[in-house]
Amino acid sequence: MTAWAEDFRKLFPHARVDEPMSRHTTFHIGGPADALVAVHDEAQLARLYVFARRHALPVMLLGRGSNLLVLDRGIRGVVVRLKGDFERIEFPGGTLVRAGAGARLPQLAMDCAERGLTGVETLVGVPGTVGGGLVMNAGTREGEIGAVVRRVRIFEPELGKGAWIGGGALRFSYRKSNLENRVVLAGELELKAGVKGDILARVRELQGRRSQTRPIHTFNVGSVFKNPPGRFVAQLIQEAGLKGLRRGGAKVSDLHANFIENDQGATAADVLGLVETLREAVRSRFNVELELEVKVVGEA
Ligand SMILES: Cc1cc2nc3c(=O)[nH]c(=O)nc-3n(C[C@H](O)[C@H](O)[C@H](O)COP(=O)(O)OP(=O)(O)OC[C@H]3O[C@@H](n4cnc5c(N)ncnc54)[C@H](O)[C@@H]3O)c2cc1C
Repeated sequence: MTAWAEDFRKLFPHARVDEPMSRHTTFHIGGPADALVAVHDEAQLARLYVFARRHALPVMLLGRGSNLLVLDRGIRGVVVRLKGDFERIEFPGGTLVRAGAGARLPQLAMDCAERGLTGVETLVGVPGTVGGGLVMNAGTREGEIGAVVRRVRIFEPELGKGAWIGGGALRFSYRKSNLENRVVLAGELELKAGVKGDILARVRELQGRRSQTRPIHTFNVGSVFKNPPGRFVAQLIQEAGLKGLRRGGAKVSDLHANFIENDQGATAADVLGLVETLREAVRSRFNVELELEVKVVGEA
């Protein structure tokens, strides 16, 4: 146990110390975080940042861990999950929706559909949180969350509270945003009014299509690599004959070649080994450099 952990637990009695991150990522991979804590409102988050600053601890925000490869020696410092107030989805009027960073994207898609609001149906198949979704500019070929964002609430550690930023201060591109090193507390989206029955039907259609084309019941993190301009990674990997390729407990999915599955107690090192093999094969066969979509964090 680290020297500061005792004091930390006095401040946050429900915090977990030396918590295996494999319990908190959809890959089910990852060494221990020094501490993992859920915070429920901005005041608690402010107290956490005061403690972290006093002890010079890094702080990392965690959503559902659905885009994370946590390395085998784990994460130093404090990992934070946003719960309570941060899980609310509110409809302040008109076509606006305000969603806390801890709310789930599929829930957001369903709630908006139920209210006859269109624009986020495609997020029904993205198993992350609003916070992780904003940071990653989550989406599909049907659209990305960034396209409907009006404002984002950011925590300002120096002020000890959140502030809304919008307009020109926000930048979103393919699986990327300028929110990466910020603490996202909520997003305000501007949707469009539609016909509830049509929107719900679309959500169901998208859900059904994904369950046939993606391995949604295995331990994975979705697409491992970003699609290079004009190409589909899954096709390149498939054409290189690498579907089903294995490294330790990690395997290239038989269903979707841009997914790696942890089907036999894989380590992060197994996954990274497989990643390098895929990169090398695609580079030598197609002269294409693959960029990771999954975020790699922690100590090797
Ligand atoms: C089966 C499956 C299918 C998927 N399909 C898609 C898809 O179609 N489209 C797509 O875009 N993605 C897809 N993903 C990937 C993933 O769900 C998205 O990237 C999602 O947005 C990640 O959200 P998260 O809450 O899990 O973030 P995490 O994985 O927990 O974190 C991702 C990054 O965001 C940071 N972060 C998280 N929350 C906050 C916050 N509140 N403030 C600041 N930083 C934060 C983390 O530190 C990390 O750097 C899929 C994943 C799986 C497992």
